[in-house]
Amino acid sequence: MEPADGIRKFGFRRWYERQLVESHCYLVTCFLCFVVVLACIEGFSFRAEGWEPFMRLTVMIAGSALGAWALGRYKVMLDLAEYTAEQSTCTDCGTYGALEVSGVRVLARERAEEGRREEGEGKLIGVRCRRCGHEWTIQ
Ligand SMILES: [Zn+2]
Repeated sequence: MEPADGIRKFGFRRWYERQLVESHCYLVTCFLCFVVVLACIEGFSFRAEGWEPFMRLTVMIAGSALGAWALGRYKVMLDLAEYTAEQSTCTDCGTYGALEVSGVRVLARERAEEGRREEGEGKLIGVRCRRCGHEWTIQ
């Protein structure tokens, strides 16, 4: 879900909270994969009979891949949440997080008309302070 859709649907504070919870679930997944890989390494031996070495090796590779993916996802989600949170304080009245999305497309069009390079996925979000009505953009 795009940040603009999430903020519009849940409000900024709940969206931010959900981003933090979900990103930390990825961190826990990464930690569990790390434990599984270590457990597989501990008893690994090519001298073991049957499918055990093959299965352990498969689990180690899959666990490593899943753990790396989860760690990357954790970092991306946390960075997005923190970066957005840094821009969510109203510059007029100083209220934190009391904002609503005022439109993504309009701001993206204005940006293109100014001749600046468009950055793809419409990440420029227009927001409005719920307390004083001041408008600004967050990326
Ligand atoms: Zn304000």
